[in-house]
Amino acid sequence: MKKKSITYIFDTNIFLTGIDFNLFEGDIFTTPSIIEEVKDCRYIEKNRNILNKINAAIETKKLKLKFPENKYIDKIKEISKKTGDFKALSDADKKLIALTLELTEKSNKQVIMYSNDYSIENVCSELNITFSPLYKEGIESKITWEVYCPYCKNIHKVEDLNKTCEICGIKLRRRPKK
Ligand SMILES: [Zn+2]
Repeated sequence: MKKKSITYIFDTNIFLTGIDFNLFEGDIFTTPSIIEEVKDCRYIEKNRNILNKINAAIETKKLKLKFPENKYIDKIKEISKKTGDFKALSDADKKLIALTLELTEKSNKQVIMYSNDYSIENVCSELNITFSPLYKEGIESKITWEVYCPYCKNIHKVEDLNKTCEICGIKLRRRPKK
């Protein structure tokens, strides 16, 4: 049986890991504002190789840039207010999630969002979008996660991440522990 092909969506922090795009079978999408963020990052000289890789991938059409439709951006604004992530998300973040939602609804491919941003993760979880972090080696082990209920704010066990709060029935979320 032929495998269903996958479309990957990359966030700024994924590009900044310097990941080799050819490790991914299938198209990679992002928004123009995410590429602007990569260019904007303070260490532009350090990112020179990454930008060269991005430009080469755009030329070979491995990497595709697309603006999301406004109705999907509106939807993300609404959902992120509900999850409490509205302020934590930049405009570029919201557009990226909007593009992910749009491609999930319109294409017949499996769409996976790659990001290391936990507010993006929260909104994707609310929308049932497949999410994957891609930490540079060693970074993930430095983050201690806390699982909590966004409604009653009670802290739950880390193993309960994919469960719902037994008091409120709301899907639990995670955030880095301070
Ligand atoms: Zn609760």
